[in-house]
Amino acid sequence: MYPPPFDYQAPDSLEEALAILAEHGYEAKALAGGQSLIPLLKLRFAAPAVLVDLGRIPGLDGVEAADGELRIGALARHNQLAASPLVAERCPAASAAAPQIADPLVRNLGTLGGSLAHADPAGDWGSVMIACGAQLVLASAGGRRTVPATEFFRGVFDTALEPTELLTEVRIPSPRGPAGGTYLKLERKVGDFATVGVAVSLELDGAGRIARAGIGLTAVGPQNLRAAAAEEALAGAEPTAEAFAEAGRLAAGGCEPASDVRGSAEYKRHVVEVYVRRGLARALEIARRS
Ligand SMILES: Cc1cc2nc3c(=O)[nH]c(=O)nc-3n(C[C@H](O)[C@H](O)[C@H](O)COP(=O)(O)OP(=O)(O)OC[C@H]3O[C@@H](n4cnc5c(N)ncnc54)[C@H](O)[C@@H]3O)c2cc1C
Repeated sequence: MYPPPFDYQAPDSLEEALAILAEHGYEAKALAGGQSLIPLLKLRFAAPAVLVDLGRIPGLDGVEAADGELRIGALARHNQLAASPLVAERCPAASAAAPQIADPLVRNLGTLGGSLAHADPAGDWGSVMIACGAQLVLASAGGRRTVPATEFFRGVFDTALEPTELLTEVRIPSPRGPAGGTYLKLERKVGDFATVGVAVSLELDGAGRIARAGIGLTAVGPQNLRAAAAEEALAGAEPTAEAFAEAGRLAAGGCEPASDVRGSAEYKRHVVEVYVRRGLARALEIARRS
């Protein structure tokens, strides 16, 4: 099926893009990698009057470490992040997630910002950003604001983004002590969306106890979920197998999976329990080596 007709605009600057969004509001849609939006247009689930292609805007795809943060531009592509030594060093959970997203074609085109803005509850990036305590920078013609990843997702395909805003950057705080992280994804076959995904980020204090644990869950609720009870139980605890097993149980108890073609709700809860436990153990190994 062909998409309905639309006006195509390809601004050369962020300011120009934001001005177009300010003028058209709900009638306009940003186009990043097109890997989710183009299928939606073709299926006629979306029919924006104006499509604002972000592809010609310079400076939105950078990856840099500055001021105690890893900063990733919204237009950074999945494959770019999979190959980035800086991401591997500063955010192992992101480095583990990137090569597990979709297939090579999608990874070459899809962007971090597009994925987060699309807010598919089965999307992988949202859980990583929740686990890593990321801050999302949202820009409009009126200014900038920063929203924690934990508050960005509002429900199925729903976020804190206003129609006149663009997500421009993700900021992941650098850990102060030894740290590790990972992303575990169960998929029916390579390239599939997650049956269940678990992102884990772990930071140790000087005495080897857990200073901070971040856990994000994919495809087990209406949005990427934070496993808050598990995180709270881990904070200040010794990083033992018992503590990790209890965190797995708490995360499984707090998620909201639905039974579908990928598995029953009970099965998915079990996978969450196992993956949280395994993810924490893997993150601890990485932290102790760092
Ligand atoms: C076959 C296939 C398999 C896939 N498998 C997976 C998978 O396993 N895991 C996974 O996580 N994803 C998967 N995806 C989705 C993929 O990751 C997309 O790249 C991603 O969801 C959207 O990114 P995009 O850059 O293509 O955004 P687009 O499709 O261009 O845009 C998506 C939405 O975000 C909005 N948008 C885009 N950029 C911005 C911005 N900077 N600010 C504000 N709004 C913006 C658009 O207006 C649109 O509403 C898959 C997609 C396909 C086609």
